[in-house]
Amino acid sequence: MNEYVQKLMAEVKAKNPSEPEFHQAVYEVAESLALVLERHPEYRSWKILERIIEPERVLMFRVPWMDDNGEVQVNRGFRIEMNSAIGPYKGGLRFHPSVNLGILKFLAFEQVFKNSLTTLPMGGGKGGSDFDPKGKSDNEVMRFCQSFMSELFRHIGPDTDVPAGDIGVGAREIGFLFGQYKKLRNEFTGVLTGKGLNWGGSLIRPEATGYGAVYFAAEMLTTRGETLEGKTCLVSGSGNVSQYTVEKLLDLGAKVVTLSDSAGYIYDEAGITREKLDYVMNLKNVRRGRIKEYADKYKTAVYTPVDPTQDYNPLWNHKAHCAFPSATQNEINGKDAQNLVNNGVYVVSEGANMPTTIEGVNVFLENRILYGPGKAANAGGVAVSGLEMSQNSMRIPWSREEVDNRLHNIMKSIHKTCVEVAERFGTPGNYVNGANIGGFLKVADAMLDHGLV
Ligand code: NDP
Repeated sequence: MNEYVQKLMAEVKAKNPSEPEFHQAVYEVAESLALVLERHPEYRSWKILERIIEPERVLMFRVPWMDDNGEVQVNRGFRIEMNSAIGPYKGGLRFHPSVNLGILKFLAFEQVFKNSLTTLPMGGGKGGSDFDPKGKSDNEVMRFCQSFMSELFRHIGPDTDVPAGDIGVGAREIGFLFGQYKKLRNEFTGVLTGKGLNWGGSLIRPEATGYGAVYFAAEMLTTRGETLEGKTCLVSGSGNVSQYTVEKLLDLGAKVVTLSDSAGYIYDEAGITREKLDYVMNLKNVRRGRIKEYADKYKTAVYTPVDPTQDYNPLWNHKAHCAFPSATQNEINGKDAQNLVNNGVYVVSEGANMPTTIEGVNVFLENRILYGPGKAANAGGVAVSGLEMSQNSMRIPWSREEVDNRLHNIMKSIHKTCVEVAERFGTPGNYVNGANIGGFLKVADAMLDHGLV
């Protein structure tokens, strides 16, 4: 490890104890940036990296609400306003029991670089709560969202901070949050993205992250003169990102054999067809059931429950060409990455944020596979959120084709940036360096222009 990175990491760990995911995200970026700081001493003397890792503002607040039994519940709410050098803070809200300050800081940090890569004027932020929407009634979710927004509304706005969805925050939650914001502010503005179509949402926003991750994989394959047609793919998760990853893979002639949730995964050797995908969408978005039920319905599928005593995830141990991790952070460790490579996987496009541990990333880089890190590969979601903001400001909605074309072009442009920057800094084919450096340069230059603020 270079001396500068070593010193920086020691400070990050001392100042942000008990935040391993944040340390991991900073380390990965700092390693790439060591290449840049040698060539640009001005970034070092103006302490750009030291400033980027410190959030501009962190909000933490109480969220009290009443459950259906009349009992008072208390959760913790957060919003990390990480960096606004190139635009208003932008990034999703996550509702999941695992949410804590460190996880949201890692996500907000990643978001800064991701948003910069999209070419759109968006800063980085992230927020959420340790509230678990699973097993709650619609009324409970509504009361929680209203209480959450009763504090958050003071800090956000269409030109200040524009949240969106993430794990546990889908169309239903965005609706309740928007309704409460509108009531408290007495204004109808594009303060959240991922809105319903008939009240300011954009076509293709639900599809954008999954479609984008597939477009990114297709671009990576183009560098080897190949397409996704006929490729066998492993997909994890079964939420928003996973569902639309599968849909686009089917459009492009690939075969998908896995899906998962936090309880286990299914392996369907026959492939997930459109009809089976419709079943999954209904199961997850309407009935809010478990992926196990897929194997009860389709006999070609085998269900394997999560076994916490295992040091690897069997989902990543099947023969395939491509993998699309689309559930959560650190779902691929070093052993999983080696299993993927041993099983013939040579394309990994990350729909989730930081789904691969540092050890896993090193396995991919050493084996020189086509590895698209999340901050590049899953940027399609926030890109279309940016397009939703544009449409809201103009008060003119675009057609499905218009948004999809723009999304496709943005993913191509992100891919091009990654390839060109990786090459310029002496590491051709390394999309990790390409994404980290490509995202950093624009933000760093804006911070230099703005002076010491
Ligand atoms: P959803 O809530 O729609 O789906 C999440 C899926 O991942 C579910 O299948 C869930 O299973 C599973 N999952 C969540 N947490 C865990 C866990 N700790 N262990 C195992 N499985 C888990 O979320 P999204 O699809 O929106 O998000 C998935 C990933 O994509 C996240 O990393 C998110 O940050 C990232 N992302 C999302 C974007 C978006 O536009 N939505 C944009 C960019 C990135 P279960 O139902 O059992 O919890």
